[in-house]
Amino acid sequence: MISSEAIGLYIHVPFCRRRCHFCAFYLEIAQPDRMARFQSALLQEITLHGRQEFLNGRCLHSIYFGGGTPTSLPTEYLTTLLNVIRATWPTSSTTEITVEAHPSSIAFEDLTDLAKSGFNRISFGAESMKDQDFAAIGRFGRVRDTATAIHESRRAGFTNINLDLMYGLPAQSLQDWVDTLESLVALEPTHISCYALTLEADTRLAQDIARKVVSPPMMRYRSRWRPLQNTY
Ligand code: SF4
Repeated sequence: MISSEAIGLYIHVPFCRRRCHFCAFYLEIAQPDRMARFQSALLQEITLHGRQEFLNGRCLHSIYFGGGTPTSLPTEYLTTLLNVIRATWPTSSTTEITVEAHPSSIAFEDLTDLAKSGFNRISFGAESMKDQDFAAIGRFGRVRDTATAIHESRRAGFTNINLDLMYGLPAQSLQDWVDTLESLVALEPTHISCYALTLEADTRLAQDIARKVVSPPMMRYRSRWRPLQNTY
């Protein structure tokens, strides 16, 4: 028997402007011709899935654009994709429609267009509120861009805002982490997700640590600090 249960849809957008030094994900550096080909293939894929009998008429309880950095795509690509998805499957007034974004590379006009087209949740990769952390992990942008991005998102109409954070960063002390948390909680996001840094072999960060250009991460075990070793 074919199910009529509501389903979630995840769209993976593998483009970023540049690679963060800790990142080992598959990704493509955002270039117009590659993004145009990706958009065309993705629209075709959505159409093909729309013809699948087992997906026919199933309501979408969530639609999630993750990456990569989905907002590397031109905003009109994202709004077109969402329009096509909604024309293919039913949604309801409670369908959560999320887009991930980099706080340092999104403009108010883009946020407004995304909100108007139906995106009702935005998730920013804030990562830290210490500029020295950004330098250590090769993350572009400035930490103050996160506050601006949240402010502009609210002005554009978003009320559901998530922040992703990373802990266990190179040379990050417990106090640095507490400061970051307090700074971000003060911005009153709807939700905060925290992830431990994983040092992946063959990343620029692992090389920088091996060459002693960057300090290794410090983790707290019970009551004392000690460096992580042999994890990369
Ligand atoms: S923004 Fe995310 S996916 Fe893109 S390079 Fe940085 S960590 Fe990797």
